[in-house]
Amino acid sequence: MILPERMSVYINSLDTGNGAFLDDLQRFAVENHVPVIRPDMQSFLKVLLAIHRPQRILEVGTAVGFSALLMAANTSPDCRITTIENYEKRIPLARENFRRAGMEERITLLPGDAMKILPTLKEPFDFIFMDAAKGQYIHFLPEVLRLLRLDGVLLSDNVLQDGDIIESHYAIEQRDRTIYKRMREYLYVLKHTEGLLTSVVAVGDGAAVTVKQADVTVPGKNIDEAAETPECAEAAGGLNTIDRE
Ligand code: SAH
Ligand code: MG
Repeated sequence: MILPERMSVYINSLDTGNGAFLDDLQRFAVENHVPVIRPDMQSFLKVLLAIHRPQRILEVGTAVGFSALLMAANTSPDCRITTIENYEKRIPLARENFRRAGMEERITLLPGDAMKILPTLKEPFDFIFMDAAKGQYIHFLPEVLRLLRLDGVLLSDNVLQDGDIIESHYAIEQRDRTIYKRMREYLYVLKHTEGLLTSVVAVGDGAAVTVKQADVTVPGKNIDEAAETPECAEAAGGLNTIDRE
């Protein structure tokens, strides 16, 4: 919780849902501990899409396809979505959901590690939704910014880490410290890089909205954390894991 609980409950109580298919999928996700963007984040995303009207969307972190389908339902029929997922158990579920929703023409799932897939992509995207392992955002950033067109929008989810982000380093459990450090660095870079305009907002689990106003380069990083592989995620328990929101 990043807002007082009563405030979150109130805001979410105003939500009117997203139609039977998506509401059912959300219920499935919650019941099966699959991460899915929260209702207040859902409407924030829908509003951003209505303002920005993207034609090409990239998503990093498909899970079972809820947010990709939500974006498809809230953009024009000629908008195409590319989404990346590396967790084998979730890939067939997401594909099946795209098919059942009749959206397989508009949504392309690229299976594999975003760190490997991002450098192979070429087309510029109007809108990028970053919603994968939080500790990796900083590593994805150089490629994500290369792929984002000028005046394109980058939306990053879960940046306030359930409020952990403002705790002292020492109050954070050992296993979460790397993620904590990297997320602080990520937000710092988004806020301090000339050519990027960023607002960090307390919606959902914290979101950062960034507009790329000029071509920018940010320092590259290498993945070094074994703790973020799907194998470790598996060990942490089925479809749900600590760093998989
Ligand atoms: N956007 C989804 C939720 C995504 S949860 C929704 O709201 O419906 C985050 C997903 O990112 C998980 O399924 C996880 O397996 C995936 N992920 C994490 N790190 C990744 C990486 N390096 N490459 C590809 N997918 C990754
Ligand atoms: Mg998320």
